Amino acid sequence: EKYVYDFSEGHKDLKELLGGKGANLAEMTRLGLPVPAGFTVTTRACQAYLATGQNPDGLDAEIDEHLAALERTMGRRLGDAEDPLLVSVRSGAAFSMPGMMETVLNVGLTDASVAGLAAQAGGNDRFAWDSYRRLIQMFGKTVCDVPGEEFSDALEEAKKAKGTTDDLHLDAADLRALVDRFKRIFAKHTGYDFPQDPREQLRLAMEAVFRSWNAERAVLYRRQERIPADLGTAVNVCSMVFGNLGADSGTGVAFTRDPASGAQGIYGDYLSNAQGEDVVAGIRNTVPLEDLQRLDAKSYEELLAIMAKLEGHYRDLCDIEFTIERGKLWMLQTRVGKRTAAAAFRIAAQLVNEGVITLDEALRRVSGAQLAQLMFPRFDLSDEPAALTKGIGASPGAASGKAVFSAQRAVELAAEGEDVILVRRETNPEDLAGMIAARGILTARGGKTSHAAVVARGMGRTCVCGADELEIARDRFTVDGQTVAEGDVLSIDGTTGRVYLGAVPVQPSEVVQYFEGDEVDSTLVEAVDTIMRHADATRRLAVRTNADTGEDAARARRFGAEGIGLCRTEHMFLGDRKELVERLILSSTESARNDALAALLPLQRADFVDLFRAMDGLPVTVRLIDPPLHEFLPSLEELAVNVAVARERGEENAEEAQLLDAVRRMHEQNPMLGLRGVRLGLVIPGLFAMQVRAIAEAAVQLAGEGLHPRPEIMVPLVGAVQELEMVRQECEQIVAEVVAGSGVEVLIGTMIEVPRAALTAGQIAEAADFFSFGTNDLTQMGWGFSRDDVEGAFFWRYLELGIFGISPFESIDRDGVGRLIRIAAEEGRAVRPDLKLGVCGEHGGDPESVHFFHEVGLDYVSCSPFRVPVARLEAGRAAV
Ligand code: PEP
Ligand code: MG
Repeated sequence: EKYVYDFSEGHKDLKELLGGKGANLAEMTRLGLPVPAGFTVTTRACQAYLATGQNPDGLDAEIDEHLAALERTMGRRLGDAEDPLLVSVRSGAAFSMPGMMETVLNVGLTDASVAGLAAQAGGNDRFAWDSYRRLIQMFGKTVCDVPGEEFSDALEEAKKAKGTTDDLHLDAADLRALVDRFKRIFAKHTGYDFPQDPREQLRLAMEAVFRSWNAERAVLYRRQERIPADLGTAVNVCSMVFGNLGADSGTGVAFTRDPASGAQGIYGDYLSNAQGEDVVAGIRNTVPLEDLQRLDAKSYEELLAIMAKLEGHYRDLCDIEFTIERGKLWMLQTRVGKRTAAAAFRIAAQLVNEGVITLDEALRRVSGAQLAQLMFPRFDLSDEPAALTKGIGASPGAASGKAVFSAQRAVELAAEGEDVILVRRETNPEDLAGMIAARGILTARGGKTSHAAVVARGMGRTCVCGADELEIARDRFTVDGQTVAEGDVLSIDGTTGRVYLGAVPVQPSEVVQYFEGDEVDSTLVEAVDTIMRHADATRRLAVRTNADTGEDAARARRFGAEGIGLCRTEHMFLGDRKELVERLILSSTESARNDALAALLPLQRADFVDLFRAMDGLPVTVRLIDPPLHEFLPSLEELAVNVAVARERGEENAEEAQLLDAVRRMHEQNPMLGLRGVRLGLVIPGLFAMQVRAIAEAAVQLAGEGLHPRPEIMVPLVGAVQELEMVRQECEQIVAEVVAGSGVEVLIGTMIEVPRAALTAGQIAEAADFFSFGTNDLTQMGWGFSRDDVEGAFFWRYLELGIFGISPFESIDRDGVGRLIRIAAEEGRAVRPDLKLGVCGEHGGDPESVHFFHEVGLDYVSCSPFRVPVARLEAGRAAV
């Protein structure tokens, strides 16, 4: 196996083997750009080293060979006393991990070669000693773990002793003394002297770079960015060029476009008489790149020509590191540059307009996550407010308002025109009205799939959950000794999870204004428009929305939804109607039950009329009631206390006692595995029938107005075809009776959200016109994770241990839950080729998951209104 590649041997498509930096240095070499000579040791060598703790067989010999060739090219020997070759040793992985791993410059300098370097530099002793002290400092810190502060403190002391703050004022003698000081620091911490054998320095530096792959911060960064842990880093050994040889030397960074806005132009910084790490360390102030024109016109012109060439070659924004050594320009690095979300869209669209890339390529260069970022209003943090506390950013956005501590107060204050932030320990369905009324929701408990988080995302409300430092009382909370009472203004950032006291100013999203159909004059919106049109033209997946109200449905439609994939009808049983449901549950006679159902029917019908109207001409999937009924009854504990207290006082109330009995009867240890969904329909006579009648009557009413309602009735929690058959039979009868002669067609299908349903999909397909994957429950039951508890309870540990890189409730678990979906899709379609397949769990709006659903061949994804554009974009990206 070949472990070492000369820069002239590689090219840009060898990133996996040579790392990004090595592959691009090779590419620039191939393009004939001025790159200092050097070679790259492969990531495979690193993998072998990390596996065994030793260089693999043959590596040392190959390095010797390439080093000898480099010495011949440069006409100098590494660390030679008279005329030394010095090299830099830099990490470079396949994925950019900025600042995560190590670099050592000036390798080859020793007590002997320092004089040779001074001679090379025309008798510049100061430069040689400065380079040597930099080597000891960097080598000590990165190769031998000497605490960096010891070196920087010693440097500060030397400057202070000289009465200066500028390291340029230290002369050769000062730096020589500093080298002695550094060597003592080195020996004190390592127990041995600074190595004087240049080849030994090189070997140790390369091994340190290999090991830096597993440095704590690198491991953390990879986990966050979901970069595989076993890739390893390449090592680049490059002959040194010096930016610190005097005023005609320097170092800089440049971008071919503005990485923040995407605008074309010259962006960058330059620092004269300095080495690269000075720019990063901020030792001295840089000047704008344009100033280089004045300082060194020739290098400046050459740099601009190279930048144009690189952008043309990579067909994208490039960033560049360069050094000028005594008026000679050297390219040290280039890569396709990181950019903000807005710049990603702008640059992609600009490059299309310039004829540089195709629309397909433009689509690949942006992401749903970037689009989502652009859709949330943001805090203007230019005043740098201090955060009060931090929770989990559960539903992005920026919201400010008065703190309230109950849903009722939220509704009252909002009705008075106040902006409010609803603060709760955790939320439950009872809080819904308050959540709707609030600008934002803040909870002390629960993770990204807690009720608060899921509902807030569904409504596009900003939410921070799990802010566990909050101690919440009835009408106030305290955190860190500070008390926030009702009416105090809070600002919450649903992206970062930060909570601020007081109002932080907010900027609305122009991208949302555009999706809403407003005229917005901005280059960003133009770019988003260009790319969204192409995504829509390209995608095979349709995108629907999860919506329960006409208003949400209408908004989602403006955002591009092509129907409703899930209407959760239980959301229609809250508020005033709760009493009717309570009556239904508690009714002991058939006539009482029928009365309650009869009272609910017109209300439900009106709900569906709203929905079908908003989605006229498009399919609307209405799911029959799903949650356990006890959710509609008062809490067992509270009621038990009330009844006991009343009994004590001799004020017993028969109705309350009866209610308590009922609540006890219905109490379940595992309600999510209990009496819900289709089970309810089979146990409570008339409940599903009432809903089906309301759906059919609403459709007939609208058809009578000349509209085109397309209802789809969906049965939740089916695990066996027998369940579905029984419900279906009842539904068909009612539908047939109601829609006769109206021209309305009603489909009847099922959710696939119980693993058994996925595994018997062939049977279930016999009784279903469509399947909609309920990936929330499928994940819950597939993993055996309670979706309401696990995130706060132990997911943090699972994430920390790398058991998964992201919650399976957020992004589909391809191997497990995904396999259930594949099986169900295949077996369902084998039985019924025209079976419509969709997904309506939270995953329907998750970018990664959308690609999976595309691969599996679903017909549509359904997600909350605000995620519809993201799903459209990702469905387009999945198809190119
Ligand atoms: C699901 O389980 O994925 C689903 C959409 O239903 P719910 O979230 O209402 O249980
Ligand atoms: Mg479900």
